[in-house]
This record gives sequence, structure tokens and C-alpha cells, in this order.
Amino acid sequence: MKTEPSPGPDAPSGRIWSTLAASRRWGGTLFAQVSTLGLVVVLAGLCGFALWSSGFTRHASERAIESSRLAEHYAVAAAAVAAEESLERKYRLEPGADVRRRFQEASKDLLGALATVRQSGGPTDRDVVDRVAAAHAPYLRAADRMFDAVDRADAREVLRIDHEEVDPRFDAIVALVGAATASHRRQQIAALAELQAREQFNEWATPATFLGGMALVVLFSGVLRRTLGQLDSQRRQAVHDALHDGLTGLPNRALLADRFHQALRASRRDGTTTGLLVIDLDRFKEVNDTLGHHVGDQLLARIGPKLVGALRDVDTVARLGGDEFAVLLPNVGSLEGALDTARRLRKALAEPVRIEGVELDIDASIGVVISGKHGEDAPTLLQHADVAMYVAKQQGRGVVAYDPGSDDHSPERLSLLGQLRRGIERGELFLHYQPKISLHTGAVTGVEALARWQHPERGLVSASDFISWAEHTGLIGPLTDCVLNLALAQARAWASAGHPIPIAVNVSARTLQDDDFANKIADLLALHGVPAALLEVEVTESAVTLEPERASRVLKHLHGLGVRIAIDDFGAGYTSLAQLKHLPISQLKIDKSFILTLGSDDDSALIVRSMIDLGHGLNLEVVAEGVESAQVLGVLAGYRCDIAQGFHVCRPARAEDLMQWYLRRADAGAAGVGSPDPDQPSAPPLPARG
Ligand code: C2E
Ligand code: CA
Ligand code: CA
Repeated sequence: MKTEPSPGPDAPSGRIWSTLAASRRWGGTLFAQVSTLGLVVVLAGLCGFALWSSGFTRHASERAIESSRLAEHYAVAAAAVAAEESLERKYRLEPGADVRRRFQEASKDLLGALATVRQSGGPTDRDVVDRVAAAHAPYLRAADRMFDAVDRADAREVLRIDHEEVDPRFDAIVALVGAATASHRRQQIAALAELQAREQFNEWATPATFLGGMALVVLFSGVLRRTLGQLDSQRRQAVHDALHDGLTGLPNRALLADRFHQALRASRRDGTTTGLLVIDLDRFKEVNDTLGHHVGDQLLARIGPKLVGALRDVDTVARLGGDEFAVLLPNVGSLEGALDTARRLRKALAEPVRIEGVELDIDASIGVVISGKHGEDAPTLLQHADVAMYVAKQQGRGVVAYDPGSDDHSPERLSLLGQLRRGIERGELFLHYQPKISLHTGAVTGVEALARWQHPERGLVSASDFISWAEHTGLIGPLTDCVLNLALAQARAWASAGHPIPIAVNVSARTLQDDDFANKIADLLALHGVPAALLEVEVTESAVTLEPERASRVLKHLHGLGVRIAIDDFGAGYTSLAQLKHLPISQLKIDKSFILTLGSDDDSALIVRSMIDLGHGLNLEVVAEGVESAQVLGVLAGYRCDIAQGFHVCRPARAEDLMQWYLRRADAGAAGVGSPDPDQPSAPPLPARG
């Protein structure tokens, strides 16, 4: 039995730690995200600032350039106007074709400048141009008429036109052009001033912004680097946690599997051998139950260092769970080397451990496998080491190497089970019968039916080679049905031939747990037309003590039908007669291990004698099985044992052979010699009377 060690007194806090670690991990990720975002924002801010700054400067200088260009055009216009005025006056003093031509050119210049302003200026400028043009056309016409008056030397008309028509229009034009020019000059100055201010601002703001930005970049990248570093170490810790056992700090199953694969790969490559030990502590449950889980946990934590201390550096000690450990032995050399290591580890573990003032002795069962001999891949080897460990534990052998014969799960076993299932269906199962004779009269009191399997390739297979693993699977059900049918058919046949011989059938513990079993027996008896008195049922003491109430119910039901019940292999277990006395039992079969040593072992003699007396005290018939010699037969008769069964009387035999033996014996008047040939029974000697 294995028990899981407690999660430990710090289990709840363990949960808190893992929650904290998880929240820190989460916090770390958040930090990294915030820092990265900060970096992006700062860099985007710097870019934005540079773009905004250069955009602003470009805009201000464009405005300044535009204003100065317009102011320039207005200046050209103003100059043209001034030229018109001066030429107009000049014409009055020195009239001539040349002055008039130059006046017309000045007018053309003015119109040209106005056209440029209209094209490149804004709505206000276009308004100014319209108003100047509106005043300029009549001005030109008036100037023309004034020039004509000059040519006619009509001084009065000249003065009148000048005063009334030319001057007012000229003044209006000068005012309009002058105002526009001045306004654009002002705008130009303002734009230039703004540009200058902008440049002054840029002079300190640009380096300041970039310095600040760089500081933030350094800060954020520092935070980011630290956070990433933390995340990395947390990830490393998480990987470590995933591959190690929390309680002992040893590698866990996953890491073992990984190293195992590597070691096997290296073995295949280099032609070496990898060994694996599975270690299970004995009686660990007792430590847990009597001293508490915290002591159990401390004990488990002390196992790792003990094992590691007795191994090479290249070996791996892992905790598989509970009180189960595994040791991986790369390049171990041979099976003997692995077994030696296992024995050494067992010795190291055997040194007492002191925990909380209590001295604890640790014993361990160790299963051993090596690559090649016991399997090629890690899962198979691990499973086989586990099987070997269970065998070591069950048989109290300490260290055991894997043996496929003891493996209920080996492929050979599984395929044999399949073959047995088919064998039952195909009628490969048959019965041997072994007689039981009365030590008082020499009469045959009955026979025991023993299952045999005629395997198509393996030949005859004995019950001891397949019953126990049929019992571990559902196969024991169909097997018992088959045996019962064969036995009852045989009982019917013998009874019909005038030999009503009782037949005993062995019934497993599992079958005895079936509440319906007695009904099934009743049906089969009816089916075969066999009286219940011709059927006996043999059950082992452990079958009865497994689930006493249910077994007792089924046995009482059987007894009620008239079927006799025998306790088989008595003495092999730990049951006392007191436990059996409430059951409807007729016979006690002393286990053959006591009978086989009866001649040689004084203790056996004492035990057998006591068992016989106790059985009689409970009104039971006592049967001795495993009687192999006349001497033992004599001793048993001396002890007043009732019935004997064994090779000396007759070996188990097929029904026909048994009947021949039976008839010969009857002819001989229940006297003769035992057959030495296993399956050739003959009449045995009469038992000596005590
Ligand atoms: P068991 O009920 O104790 O049967 C007696 C076993 O001891 C038989 O082995 C028999 O061949 C052997 N035996 C008989 N006389 C002697 C002797 O003088 N010396 C020695 N050394 N051995 C002797 P077998 O037939 O191999 O059966 C082994 C066990 O298998 C049986 O032990 C019984 O527990 C079980 N078994 C046999 N047939 C059946 C069956 O049909 N159903 C169930 N459930 N179990 C069966
Ligand atoms: Ca038996
Ligand atoms: Ca027996």
C-alpha cells in the first residue's frame, strides 16, 4: 500500500506563494508593456515635436516670403504711379512724344504690377486691385485729354482737368497703393518677427526636448531591461519548478523521462547499458499514520541526499510521487552493476534517520532494469522496473531484477490471457481429478477437480500456471463456469455408471463475492441432474475473510442447497479458527506446506497435530493434502486425521484414468501401491491405522 505524503503544513501558504508569483509575473508583464508603451510614446512625441516645429517655421517663413513678395509688387505699382505723376507734370512743362510714350509705359508697368498682385495676393489684394483699376481707367482718360489740352496750349482747360479729374483720381490711386504697400510691409515685418521668435524658441526648446526625450528613453529602456530580466529569471524558475519536485527538490518524472531518453540514445549510440531503479519505501504509510504527515514529509526530504550521496555525479535521483523514487544509471555496465548499486542504496537508506527526536529505520524495495535486456524504450523500462519493485515488496526480497514471468502486464502475459479466453471458448480446458481417501476406512470419499489447459503450442498447462492471473482479471468467471460444467457433467456420468463420487471444485475469492453464485450452482445442479450432495466447494480462508459478510451469505446459501464446503489451504494465511466457526463449513484442508515437511520438521508436526485437534473441536472433517509418502500417511493416521490427498495416494488424473484407478482399488479391496507416474494412478496402500 502506498500513501501520498501530505501536501505539507505549508500547503496553503504554498498556494499563496504561487499566486503571488503569478501576480508578480503578471505585474512584470504589465511593467514591460508600460515601459514599451512609454518608449513608443516618447519617441512619437519627439518625432511630433520635430515635425510640428519645422512645420511651424516653414509656415512662418512662407508667410514672410509671401508678404515681402506682395509688398515688392505693390512697391513696383507705387513706383509706376509715381512715374505716371511725374511724367504727367513733365508733359505740361516739356510736351513731346517721348514723354507721352514713357507715361504710357509707366501705366503699363502699373497695370502689370496690379495683375501680378491679383494673381498672387489674397481677396483683400484683389479688392485693392479692383479699386485701383476702377480709379486708373478714368485717370488715364483724363490724363489723355489734359495732354491734348497741353498740345492745344489751352492752359485753362489743362488746369481744370488737372484739378477736377486727374489729381483726385491720382490721389485715390496713390492712397490705395500706399496703404496696401504699407500693410504688406507690416505683415512682412510681423512674419519675420514671428520667425525670429520661433528660431529663438527652437534654439533652446529643440535640445531641451531631445534631451528630455532621451532621458525618458534611457529610463524606459532601463525599466524595460530590468523587467525583462525579472521575467526571464521567473521563466527560468517556472521551468525549474515544472521539472522538479516541490517537497524534495529532486527532479520529477518529467525531467527523469527526458534524461532517460537522452541516456538511452547515448547507450544505443555507444553500445553501453543504461540502468533504472525504482525505489519504494517500506512501511512509509505507518510513519505517516503514526507520526504525522509532517514527519513523513521530512523523511522524504532526507531520502534524496542519502541516495545522491551514494551515487556517481552522472546518475539522476528523481521522485516519482508518494514514497516512490527512481534512479537513472547511465552507462552502468551490466545488470550485476545495477543490482550492486541498488544493494548499496538500500544499505545507505537503512542507516537510521532522526526526526523530531524519533529514530526511524527505513527499508526499501527496489526494482531493477537495464536497457536491452528488459526493454528498449523509457516507458517500457519504467513499467518493468515498477513490476520488479512490486515483486520485491510482495516477496520481501529487497532488490529484484525484472522477470517477465512475474509480470501480470507483460505482453506475453496479456497475449496468454487472450489465448486462455479463446481456449475456454474452444474447449481447451479440461479437468484432472485427484482422489481423497478416508484414513479411517481407506474408502474414496471424493475427488478434487483441478483445471488443466491443453494449449495448442505449449502443451499441458497446470492450474498453478494460469489460475492466479485469471483471478486478477475477469477471466476467472468464465473459467469457474467451465470447470463447474465439466465437473457436474462428470459427476452425472459417474453417478449414472453406478459410482456416485462427490467432486470438489475450487472457487476463488472473487467468485465468492458474487451474490448470485449460489443461484447459479442451483441452476447447474438442476441442469446436469446432479444431487447437491455430490458437489463440494473449496474456498481459501482469505476468500472468506476478504469480505466476510458477503462470503458468509453466499456460503450459507450454498449450504442451504446441500453443497458441502471445505476451507482450502488452511494455515497458509492468518485466519484463526474462531473466525471460521460461524461459517457452515464441513471440511478443513490443511495446507500442503505443513504436510510436505511433516516428516522432517518438528514444528510442522506440532502444528498439524494442533490443527487436527482444533478442527475436530469444531466438528469439522480434517483433510491433509500433499501426502507424498507412506510414512506421512502413517503419521497423519496416528494424529487421527480424517482424510488424505496427495501424490502418494494418487496423482491428479484424467477422468478415465481416475476411474480405472478407482475400479482397481475397489477390486483390490482398497489396497495396493501408489503410482509413481504422475498421470498413471494405481491403487495406493491402505493407510496405517493409528
Ligand atoms: P489446491 O487447491 O491446493 O490444489 C492442490 C494442488 O496441489 C494441485 O496443484 C495438485 O496438483 C497439487 N498436489 C496434489 N497432491 C500433491 C502432493 O502430494 N504434493 C505436491 N507437492 N503437490 C500436490 P494444481 O493442480 O497445480 O493446482 C494449483 C492450485 O490451483 C490449486 O491449489 C487451486 O488453488 C488452484 N486451482 C486448480 N484448479 C482450479 C479451479 O478449477 N478453479 C480455481 N479457482 N482454482 C483452481
Ligand atoms: Ca483445492
Ligand atoms: Ca489446497
